[in-house]
Amino acid sequence: MKTMSRRQALRLAGGATAIIPLTMLAGRQALATDLPQVDPENATAKALEYVHASTNSEQNCANCQLYTGEAGAEWGPCAIFPGKSVAAKGWCKSWIKKAG
Ligand code: SF4
Repeated sequence: MKTMSRRQALRLAGGATAIIPLTMLAGRQALATDLPQVDPENATAKALEYVHASTNSEQNCANCQLYTGEAGAEWGPCAIFPGKSVAAKGWCKSWIKKAG
């Protein structure tokens, strides 16, 4: 039986650590973009007057405290609509200025 040299073992371990973060990153992106878009006709969306395109030039989902989408993404999660994504350019009455 052939035994693995220390150098071979280290090379294998290095390759494994490079692969894990890439797969984790791919998983995160899939999670954010795979969420179905919120329907503006949904009862909560209607009550909050949610729209996919904000008419207020200073308020949109991308600069709302409740939005957790990736910077530059067109859609992302919002705490008000669990399991759905909202438009980065969208808006609703629950808009809160993002801190920082
Ligand atoms: S709370 Fe309203 S404005 Fe803020 S991200 Fe969610 S849908 Fe957009």
